[in-house]
Amino acid sequence: MKLQRRNQALEKQVTTLLAKSFSGMSVEIGHAARWDRPCIAIRWEGFGGLLPEERFHRLVSAIPDEFRTSQLAGLVWVELAPGETVDDVLKLPRSEDVAKREADIGRTLTHNGFFATLADRLGRAAKRKCPGDFTHTAAVLSDMGKPPERIRDAKLLFIRHGAFCDCQVVATVQPAMTKEHAATSPACSPTA
Ligand SMILES: [Zn+2]
Repeated sequence: MKLQRRNQALEKQVTTLLAKSFSGMSVEIGHAARWDRPCIAIRWEGFGGLLPEERFHRLVSAIPDEFRTSQLAGLVWVELAPGETVDDVLKLPRSEDVAKREADIGRTLTHNGFFATLADRLGRAAKRKCPGDFTHTAAVLSDMGKPPERIRDAKLLFIRHGAFCDCQVVATVQPAMTKEHAATSPACSPTA
């Protein structure tokens, strides 16, 4: 994607803000003919394997709110991993894609003991520190024999609940799912 009328001063400011947490990334800000709108395109190696909403969440966490609302309002955000095109990224799944399957995904996770296992694993993790992403979530599901599509569905469900890392899954998604599970499956003990 080629951006026209690049705003190099703003690119420089954003690069400075992101340099520490996003080593090696590049920022382009300019007019995108594709949407006929101003656009910010960020390329970074670390975006590989992350869902679009995870990428955006990470960026936004590193940019002060005030700077974002005053300098970056109205931009189309595009986050690209090496070798990806804009079309590749647009095809990646979003959390709204699992909206209709949400209850089923949550019920299966609760039923399989996923949340208890994750909480246990986080508790035992080195320094008891959350990695800031879904590392343990993916590892637990993989150990349970879940294929990549199911792991992706679980991440999308958690993102729908506003959770972007393992500790947020335990702190915010687990209580919601346990409550829901108790209400819909009275014969099944949620703590089992
Ligand atoms: Zn966390």
